Amino acid sequence: MAATIIDGKGFAATVREKVAAHVARLKDENGITPGLAVVLVGEDPASQVYVRAKGKQTTEVGMNSYEHKLDVDTSEADLLAVIDKLNNDPSVHGILVQLPLPKHLNEDLIINSVSPAKDVDGFHISNVGLLGTGQKSMVPCTPLGCLMMLRDHHGSLSGLNAVVIGRSNIVGKPMAQLLLGDSCTVTIAHSRTKDLADVVRRADIVVAAVGRAEMVPGDWIKQGATVIDVGINRIEAPEKGLKEDGSVKTRLVGDVDFASCSERAGAITPVPGGVGPMTIACLLANTVTACCRANGLAEPEGLTA
Ligand code: NAD
Repeated sequence: MAATIIDGKGFAATVREKVAAHVARLKDENGITPGLAVVLVGEDPASQVYVRAKGKQTTEVGMNSYEHKLDVDTSEADLLAVIDKLNNDPSVHGILVQLPLPKHLNEDLIINSVSPAKDVDGFHISNVGLLGTGQKSMVPCTPLGCLMMLRDHHGSLSGLNAVVIGRSNIVGKPMAQLLLGDSCTVTIAHSRTKDLADVVRRADIVVAAVGRAEMVPGDWIKQGATVIDVGINRIEAPEKGLKEDGSVKTRLVGDVDFASCSERAGAITPVPGGVGPMTIACLLANTVTACCRANGLAEPEGLTA
């Protein structure tokens, strides 16, 4: 039987509606408008697209959006000064430093200079530690979005075997912590894992976060498993013809082979339209959560881990 397609785009719209409703309440009842500051260093085209999308969606849910665009050769001291100012600005509840940073900047140092309470990316070492010890934290947006979709689909995740492929700090590791927090039996697989196919075949839940186009074939998937595809890979699509400059047109694919995996999975996220839209929606959710915590107010339900 063909898998249920988990509609991340639709789910993200629902998350944004919940965020917008909570923002409206904060404005009406408390006179507070949540604010998200995004800091972009340099002119990386992909980062510019992300920052624009984040700014647009932030204002659409009624929050204030502050963009800080800095020269590519901005010094570490100048960037730290910008972050310090935002840390101390009460109108800013969330701070996001767009990654990757130019090579001359120490990414760990910069990430850890953001106030943990405003760290809506959930990358600060304090938030990593809080998440790892099962305490209230800011949770990285992409894994949070995956968790929300899994909870929505399964109800309880307790006792399920989950395999996370990929051990990055921004997706794989926090994803594994969140699944553990929901009482899954978790395996983290990575580039050195032996017999990856056998490991994946044991999974009730597969989260693929590798960055290799369509590397997971359908015959790795246990019948009825849920497949969450985090990967975003651009591949050539000769069937779409040529671009104006004569090069072959491209399309986006995930880390799993959607056609064969959807024949065996019980449910699967598509690429595009799966995990991707949930990431920015969860950034907005984290910002409203951070705002509530900063003001000692009740957090919106269903928008945190
Ligand atoms: P990363 O490069 O930091 O980590 C990739 C991980 O994959 C590593 O831990 C590595 O051990 C593992 N890996 C590499 N080759 C492997 C192999 N052959 N077998 C098993 N594991 C292997 O990547 P990342 O930042 O975690 O991102 C992963 C993918 O998710 C990328 O395609 C990225 O674009 C995408 N992504 C999507 C979103 C979203 O919003 N949808 C957000 C973040 C990342």
